[in-house]
Amino acid sequence: MKVCDHISNAKGKTLFTIEILPPLKGDNIKNLYSNLDPLMEFKPPFIDVTYHREEYIYKNKENGLLEKRSIRKRPGTVGICAAIQNHYKVDTVPHIICGGFSKEETENALIDLHFLGIDNVLVLQGDAIKNEGRFVPEPDGHKYASDLLQQVVNMNLGRYLDEELQNSAPTDFCIGVAGYPEKHFAAPNLKTDLKYLKLKIDLGAEYVVTQMFFDNQKYFDFVDRCREAGIKVPIIPGIKPITTKSQCSILPTTFHIDIPEDLSDEVEKCKDNAAVKEAGIRWAVQQCKELIKRGAPTLHFYSMGKSDPIYRIARELF
Ligand SMILES: Cc1cc2nc3c(=O)[nH]c(=O)nc-3n(C[C@H](O)[C@H](O)[C@H](O)COP(=O)(O)OP(=O)(O)OC[C@H]3O[C@@H](n4cnc5c(N)ncnc54)[C@H](O)[C@@H]3O)c2cc1C
Repeated sequence: MKVCDHISNAKGKTLFTIEILPPLKGDNIKNLYSNLDPLMEFKPPFIDVTYHREEYIYKNKENGLLEKRSIRKRPGTVGICAAIQNHYKVDTVPHIICGGFSKEETENALIDLHFLGIDNVLVLQGDAIKNEGRFVPEPDGHKYASDLLQQVVNMNLGRYLDEELQNSAPTDFCIGVAGYPEKHFAAPNLKTDLKYLKLKIDLGAEYVVTQMFFDNQKYFDFVDRCREAGIKVPIIPGIKPITTKSQCSILPTTFHIDIPEDLSDEVEKCKDNAAVKEAGIRWAVQQCKELIKRGAPTLHFYSMGKSDPIYRIARELF
């Protein structure tokens, strides 16, 4: 079932959803299930699975030189989506990205997803390769999420890359996109960023999932600006509980978001990470209570491989 149908069937009730990472290469899928099992109590209607492209590592060779190798530390997005649908009978949303894919490879991946009965995709530009600093598209790939989105929309209309294909079966994906309450780091300002978000909606995206934020006012202002810009689709807030002291600097560096003073003061006072986890949970619960009160369609929890804090938060809310 599609994300947009889950949201409309909820009739204004806020849903509980999560985003997970595929396990590190070599990990057992049973570990993923044991992380997810407790969260099933809160009946997530769908689960997002991120996509991680290759990165480069350098290995010492016997001759003393370094060898550059391309590796994917977290493969398996499609397999995990199919496994979750099979194991829990819960819909999944694979993230699909421009980076590392030619248009042909994207088409083939979408065909696999369609054959597996996966009805949803979150369409993204994708992170730059670590150490490369800026995003570089494939020579025959897409540069922006809107370009990739257009390909998915075309396939939903039965238009594949080979125009000579006759009577091609249309896919039927519900398409989501990313939005940034605190602006995407590469956008010169929020107005320009919203122009491109609106483009993604006009092309056919049916909902937006936001980057994590810790100050609800930023989300409410973002929703207002989106509505003023004519973006009418559901805007799903992304929630991440802080669990370690170091996240107060890692999260702003990685995701280009601010940590409010009250929260960082609170974390600063904590003696150890066990105390930080409690403070992070308290903060997220307050955030979520207000978001539910103000009618958020879904709370989208970034689990980052740890379900316990999310379980604790969900237990207070759902
Ligand atoms: C909810 C969520 C989930 C994510 N999941 C993943 C994941 O699984 N894997 C992963 O690698 N990364 C993931 N990311 C990170 C994401 O890929 C990066 O933030 C990336 O830098 C931007 O992706 P986007 O889809 O928003 O890009 P785009 O919409 O393409 O925008 C990128 C930048 O280009 C600008 N822009 C957009 N269109 C145009 C245009 N036509 N012309 C000029 N400028 C334009 C935008 O304003 C923005 O500054 C996720 C992010 C979020 C918020």
